[in-house]
Amino acid sequence: MKIKPQLKKQIINIALISFIVFIFTVSISIYIKSRQPSPNSIIIKRDTKISVNENFIPNQELNEEQRFLDIINYQLKNIPANDTYEYILLRAYGTIFINQNPEIKLPPKVILDNEEETVKFQDNLQLTLVEGTAECYLQKAAAEAFNKARSIIDIPLKSGYSGDCTRSYATTLRFWQKYTNSSTLEQVKQGKETNILSLVAPPGTSQHLWGLALDLRVSNQEQRQALNENGWFQTVVKDTPHWTYLGWDEQSLIKFGLKNKIVQGITYWVTPI
Ligand SMILES: [Zn+2]
Repeated sequence: MKIKPQLKKQIINIALISFIVFIFTVSISIYIKSRQPSPNSIIIKRDTKISVNENFIPNQELNEEQRFLDIINYQLKNIPANDTYEYILLRAYGTIFINQNPEIKLPPKVILDNEEETVKFQDNLQLTLVEGTAECYLQKAAAEAFNKARSIIDIPLKSGYSGDCTRSYATTLRFWQKYTNSSTLEQVKQGKETNILSLVAPPGTSQHLWGLALDLRVSNQEQRQALNENGWFQTVVKDTPHWTYLGWDEQSLIKFGLKNKIVQGITYWVTPI
């Protein structure tokens, strides 16, 4: 049988088109298949979440001291050596380092060496005026928490002056010199004098320099409760007017190894070291 040249041409064209369509369909299906993970394939997901806002909680199986030193190590990158002046100050004022509010700035070490270093640190703080005061400044989150406590119940400042709140290096030096003599600092450094730390902080170490402390006139349990509920606690035993912004609720303080110490009916949260 002889196929007409016209018909032969048509058959070739159809075959060619069919082949192209076939190749195209196969390519598409291979492509689609390659886009879908097979059930057995392992998908490696890169975790791109930034962990800045995540809190560091120490392993709860560790003892109090280890839990506290763990958070200090996390915040300060090095723990002051045992029995040094820095360690004594960490014991007295170190509760502050459990603070992990990303808006809060903590000092890079337990003692700021001089006025220059203090100014450099304070220049980077976001200080906010406490509502209803003329000159009481605190770090923003601490001020807001205190405002919130005061919206529940009135809580007066101790003197009403700026010294109740954030202080300059010069002010802390003046307070220190008022209560001590020329040999006191040396005795503190040698660990022979600790009582003074409840009365006044050595220059460069006051929580008032860090914008996270207040001196208040608290006279009843409702005021205490309002402060505690908003992250404010008494942390220096016998320094009754002194309140520290820790930024956690009471239950959380235990996670960082802080101990509650009741002295003359007042609950203080202190370091376990
Ligand atoms: Zn104070």
